Amino acid sequence: MKRIKELLQTEERDIEIELKGWIRTKRDSKDLIFLEINDGSTLKGLQIILDKKLISEEIQHDLGTGASVSVSGILVDSPAKGQSVELQGKSLILLGNAPAMDYPLQKKKHSFEFLREIAHLRPRTNTFGALARVRNALSFAIHQFFQQRGFLYIHTPIITGSDAEGAGQMFQVTTLDINAPARDSNGKVNYNEDFFGKKAHLTVSGQLQAENYACALGNVYTFGPTFRAENSKTTRHLAEFWMVEPEMAFCDLDGDQDMADDFINYLLNYILKHCPEDLEFFNQWILKGTMENLQSVAETPFERISYTQAMKALEKAPFDFQFKPHWGCDLQTEHERYLTEQWIKGPVIVSDYPREIKAFYMKQNEDGKTVRAMDVLVPRLGEIIGGSQREEDLDKLKLRMNQMDLDTQEYNWYLDLRRYGTVPHAGFGLGFERLIQYVTGLQNIRDVIPFPRAVGTIKF
Ligand code: ATP
Ligand code: MN
Repeated sequence: MKRIKELLQTEERDIEIELKGWIRTKRDSKDLIFLEINDGSTLKGLQIILDKKLISEEIQHDLGTGASVSVSGILVDSPAKGQSVELQGKSLILLGNAPAMDYPLQKKKHSFEFLREIAHLRPRTNTFGALARVRNALSFAIHQFFQQRGFLYIHTPIITGSDAEGAGQMFQVTTLDINAPARDSNGKVNYNEDFFGKKAHLTVSGQLQAENYACALGNVYTFGPTFRAENSKTTRHLAEFWMVEPEMAFCDLDGDQDMADDFINYLLNYILKHCPEDLEFFNQWILKGTMENLQSVAETPFERISYTQAMKALEKAPFDFQFKPHWGCDLQTEHERYLTEQWIKGPVIVSDYPREIKAFYMKQNEDGKTVRAMDVLVPRLGEIIGGSQREEDLDKLKLRMNQMDLDTQEYNWYLDLRRYGTVPHAGFGLGFERLIQYVTGLQNIRDVIPFPRAVGTIKF
């Protein structure tokens, strides 16, 4: 069985073809039926022409949008505009009908809100079909990028016993009876009785474990699901998302930024080359100009500025932000968007953030105020990558952990990297769904993952 993607490219004609797929549209003339079939292999469907005499009236009636069919016929040049070939049907088997009275996907434009309610059927639309192909291609490109550069793919754990980063935004994992958990003599929940003998959570990042492997094997990466109990209904946060995290030994912040820049450029070039039709679809229906924009971004190195420079630019902005920026504050999305959309007019890497707003493991600068952190910001979205050079000095790291009230005992395994053969190292995390939003122009992060999990949302 050949798929439509292949059939649209083949030079062969007058060959016998068997095709299986779902009907997108049906038209009738006096003697003929015209079906457009989509099989998911590509955006375009294939037109099938059938003589009504070949098909019983009952089945003719059932050949509506959404029905699945198997058709045999001859592939011929198409006289119709906009398609190279069509199928002269010789026989058709109706595999499953889709009664028009209740099939939710009719041939009209549906809103994204509506489609989210039927996320189990939305892959049958052009948008979500294109999206699935783009996600697939970029996943492959991510592995290819790192594999070509000798990085090892490391499977870091999903369940974690450490709760350093974002303790508040972690999901707890437990087998305790939540109505009657085991309690100690003080009446507190006794986690010794829990499955792991201590409190456990879903991971918010594979970084700490990736560092362990980088500091033995050189360059590594993880690419896996990540969980954050973000209680916010933004269009850029999910509770379950996918993150790509490279970690490189013998690498400083400059090397980290170079890698992030090369990585994004590689991915953009890859998707432009491998999914041009799907991107053209997004360009036409979702966000005009995306394709041109991706092309130009893919060719140019990112601008680089320091947080302090960014702050100066923000303070000089010709209007008031909702949140007034000042040195020491975290960059809000409105700030990030101003920097990328109006000041730099393109993606930008911001580095050397104030120590107080960043994680404990980031390498401290000589100035005693900032750390070797960097974020990649892009228009429309703000941050898509967050990274840093890691503190490799044991004493400085321990001091920082104490200042931040972190239990150094819990992190002995992490501190051992600094005790034995410590080396400069750096890495970053790319939010895969943010990348997909950037590439497709889709506004809501819930529409770039097959089955979104976000606060209050876990159907399917
Ligand atoms: P933000 O400030 O945008 O919430 P963050 O600084 O908390 O992000 P990091 O901890 O730096 O995020 O994570 C690395 C990357 O993971 C981010 O740059 C972003 O692309 C992505 N990311 C973070 N949180 C989420 C989320 N809840 N849903 C989807 N992607 C996310
Ligand atoms: Mn970040």
